[in-house]
Amino acid sequence: MLSEVVGHAKAKEKLLKAFSSERLAHGYIFYGPEGCGKVFLAREIIKYINCTSRGVDSCGVCPTCKGLSEKNHPDLAVIEPVRAVIKIEQVRAAKALMGLKAAQCEYRAVLINGADRMNGEASDALLKLLEEPVAGTLIILVASNIHAIRETIRSRAQRIDFNGLSREDTVRVLKANGIEGNRLEFLARSAEGCPGRAVNFTQEDLFPLREEAFRFAAAIGKTGVFFTTKELAKKYGKFKEEEIEEETGDAEAPAPEEKTTNSQKTLYVRNHLNDMLVSIFRDVLLVNSGRAAEIVNVDKNAVIKELSGVYSAQAAAGILGGLNKIKGLLKNSINYDLSAGNIILRGGK
Ligand SMILES: [Zn+2]
Repeated sequence: MLSEVVGHAKAKEKLLKAFSSERLAHGYIFYGPEGCGKVFLAREIIKYINCTSRGVDSCGVCPTCKGLSEKNHPDLAVIEPVRAVIKIEQVRAAKALMGLKAAQCEYRAVLINGADRMNGEASDALLKLLEEPVAGTLIILVASNIHAIRETIRSRAQRIDFNGLSREDTVRVLKANGIEGNRLEFLARSAEGCPGRAVNFTQEDLFPLREEAFRFAAAIGKTGVFFTTKELAKKYGKFKEEEIEEETGDAEAPAPEEKTTNSQKTLYVRNHLNDMLVSIFRDVLLVNSGRAAEIVNVDKNAVIKELSGVYSAQAAAGILGGLNKIKGLLKNSINYDLSAGNIILRGGK
C-alpha cells in the first residue's frame, strides 16, 4: 500500500495527482540513489492504479493487489539486469505484454529496474515501445545513473527525482525489515538515506567481511599491505549465479564459467572491502577532527577509538585518498594487484 512507502512525498503526490486528473504519463523514469525506495514506490503505484477497491490508498487485499504483490503477474513485467545487463529479449517480452489484452488489470505495466544497464539493442527496442504508446499501459524505468539512459528515451518519459531518506525514515524502513539491536544504528548511518543498501548488507550477511575490514584497518599501519583477495573471495564472495557480470570486451573468447565466477567473486569482495575501509577511515578522521558523534561504525566505537590512536587525521586522510583511487582501479582490474598495495602504502605514510 502507498501508506507503506516511507518518505518520497513529492514523488507520490505527483503520481497521484497525474492519475486522479487522468494525466498519467505513458512512461516514467524514477531517478535517484540506489536503495532509496524507487522500486517499492513503483510497485505500489502500479497496485494503486489497478486496485479494484481503491480508496485514498490501494486496499492491499483484493485479488489484483495480492496478485501484483507477487513477482509474476500476467499484467506486470518486472525486468532486471541479468549478468548486469538488460538485453533485447527481455524488452521484447515486455513488448509482447503490452500487445496482450489485460488479464485482470486496468493498466498493464512494465517495471524496468536497472534501466541504466540496457545494452544498445535493448534501448532501441524500448525506445520503440515509448514511441508507440499503447492505451492502458504504463512503463516505469528505475535508474540511479541517468546519463546511462539515452537522451531519446529520456525525452519520451517523465522524470521523477528521488532523494535519500532522512535518518529517521531510514530507521523506520530498517525496522520494518526486521533490523534491530546494536546493528540498527550502524546500518542506518551507513545507508546514507538508502535503506535498501542496509537491507542488502544484512541479507548478504556482510558482517563477517566487515570484521576482516577492521583487521585490515589495524594491519595497514604495520605493513601497508592491502588484501589477499583469493582466500577472501573464496570465503565471502557470495552472490547469485545469474548476477555474475560477463567479462566485457573480448566477446570472442569468453572466459570459462568458473574463471568468471572467481573473478567476479573477487571483485565483489574487493568492492565491499574497499567501501568498508573507507567507512572505517572516515570515522578515524572524524574522531581525530573532534567529530566523534558523527561516526558511522557506532557499534564498533571502541575499535574506532583505538584506531584513532594509531592513525593521525592526516594519515587517515592519506589512506582515504588511496582508497578512492583504488575504487577507480576496481573498474579495471588488470593493474589492480600491483597498484592497490602501493597506493595504500603511500597513503598510509
Ligand atoms: Zn486492492
